[in-house]
Amino acid sequence: SNTLLKVSGLRKSFSIPDGMFGKKKLLKAVHDVSFLIPEGKTFSLVGESGCGKSTTGRLISRLIAPSEGEIWIDGEEISQRKESQLKAMRKKVQMIFQDPYASLNPRMKVRDIVGEPLAIHTKLSKAERNKQVSEILEVVGLSEYHAHRYAHEFSGGQRQRIGIARALIMKPKLIIADEPVSALDVSIQSQILNLLKDLQAEFQLTYLFISHDLSVVEHISDHIGVMYLGTIVESGPKEEIFSNPQHPYTKALLSSIPIPDPRLRRERIILQGDLPSPVNPPTGCRFHTRCPVAMDICKVMEPPVKKGPTADHFVACHLIES
Ligand code: SF4
Ligand code: MG
Repeated sequence: SNTLLKVSGLRKSFSIPDGMFGKKKLLKAVHDVSFLIPEGKTFSLVGESGCGKSTTGRLISRLIAPSEGEIWIDGEEISQRKESQLKAMRKKVQMIFQDPYASLNPRMKVRDIVGEPLAIHTKLSKAERNKQVSEILEVVGLSEYHAHRYAHEFSGGQRQRIGIARALIMKPKLIIADEPVSALDVSIQSQILNLLKDLQAEFQLTYLFISHDLSVVEHISDHIGVMYLGTIVESGPKEEIFSNPQHPYTKALLSSIPIPDPRLRRERIILQGDLPSPVNPPTGCRFHTRCPVAMDICKVMEPPVKKGPTADHFVACHLIES
């Protein structure tokens, strides 16, 4: 199938204040990230908060511009385009955020929230916009009843449905969902994840799914990329990542997922220390300060990305034989 999204060598540094006297320092949030998503598939970026996964999503949606690297969306390279050249891309790519309440304007009625992208990007009449809003609300399991009320009148799960309707109304090809279920109760989480899966099948949507929680992405992902301090340390088909993880960080993340069947329980790997600052990332392998199996070479040499045990499986770790 077609490659809908391809990013290669993506980097982003932010200049941030360094103490008093107006000095600045560089925060290296994203450091050489590459991956692709075939049309209609889901790629999940997983890692602790601060690992650069949200920044990667914001770069791809061009809310911010990358320092380096390429972003190909539906055959077009958009990494350095100016805002005036991003119109077509802005229709094709929509975002869903973690806290729908924060991202939905409390003074706007649901109908206007959902219809706003049409008001911005099209010349449709208000009557035509409202008609499309009614249709898309039905698609996400809401109704006319919701259209005439305010977002704050609804539960977290219903608000996320409103956020999804707003994202869908432009008929996008790519949806970037940044922690879309992290603020919801577990039972509501699975409803929203199932809705996203159904919508993907119905509209051939491609998803970049961002989460700190591997167990959340298990059912929705085709491929998974595990991020640590701005880099993807391991990526591969979902089944491979879950059943045959290679990178010590992936193994640690998986070991913290509760598994009901005690025979399948993994030994819990507790990582030492805190996530280092992306202002001064460790030399060599960025994970070496917390890796339970670090070697001398890991402190001085950045591990190259190597092929894992199966096709499509990649690992950046000195322990992997090439
Ligand atoms: Fe651990 Fe070294 Fe592999 Fe990094 S390269 S994950 S420090 S073994
Ligand atoms: Mg984030």
